[in-house]
Amino acid sequence: MEIDSMEIIKSKKALRTILKSSRSAGKSIGFVPTMGFLHAGHLSLMRRARQENDLLVVSIFVNPTQFGPNEDLDAYPRDTERDTALMLAEDVDIAFFPPAEEIYPQGFTTYVTVEGPMTQALCAKSRPTHFRGVTTVVAKLFHLVMPDKAYFGQKDAQQVAVIQQMVKDLDFDLQVVVCPIKREADGLAMSSRNTYLSPRQRSDAVVLFQSLAEAQQMIASGERSALAVARSIETRIKPVQDAVIDYISVVDAETLTDLERLEGKILIALAVKFGKTRLIDNISINCGGPCR
Ligand code: AMP
Repeated sequence: MEIDSMEIIKSKKALRTILKSSRSAGKSIGFVPTMGFLHAGHLSLMRRARQENDLLVVSIFVNPTQFGPNEDLDAYPRDTERDTALMLAEDVDIAFFPPAEEIYPQGFTTYVTVEGPMTQALCAKSRPTHFRGVTTVVAKLFHLVMPDKAYFGQKDAQQVAVIQQMVKDLDFDLQVVVCPIKREADGLAMSSRNTYLSPRQRSDAVVLFQSLAEAQQMIASGERSALAVARSIETRIKPVQDAVIDYISVVDAETLTDLERLEGKILIALAVKFGKTRLIDNISINCGGPCR
């Protein structure tokens, strides 16, 4: 089947039907899962997927199972019309907008969980059920779309690590493509949640990127103590009005386990609350040292 303009699909059945005929016509499928309220970060994933695949599928689904009981599920920003226009402009072939009951029908009781430190560290400490929700919905979407390649942002570094683990462990026959973090002109990582920030919080939030950039400088100048790096970031963020640090972690980029000495590929990740808005950011750095 030829797809000339963007198909907007809400049901699993319609999605499967259209993708089945594309697949049997030999078309490669690129998939970008999102929660919508699209920004340039999302669009960068779509552009990469557009270049690398015959068919581009984007899902927009604010996934209830990845939100904790006191989190922002109801308040999460949504703008279907704007998202639709943006996807059209990116030459998306299929926009999948499932209603919640299509993904979680009555009686739904099966979850996909990646066990171990990867889903207990960093964001999981304050969001203990978050990654179970992410892996469950992403596994379901992978089964529905059966993409050749799926695109994720390094902005959510822990999510990337968890999904790569799930893909490996459960033999999903697809390639996970990780795309770089898109930032605003002042360095703040783009996020749908940035819209929650007051003007003052918005300008103060640049401290996250600045503190990570300074940490990178320290490491480039030879610092190899994880504690010293984490302390320098903390010293920079703590005095900022409204900023409450959730965590600053210096970990192995692949396993996400804590480091004392910096060696190999590391990830410095942080989460900071500005009022009710929780922002995350990270930087990955190759510190050299013994090959692994
Ligand atoms: P979300 O809608 O927040 O679930 O994000 C959907 C996808 O877009 C995820 O793979 C995110 O990591 C990615 N993403 C979100 N923000 C950015 C950003 N600033 N730069 C690159 N990718 C991003």
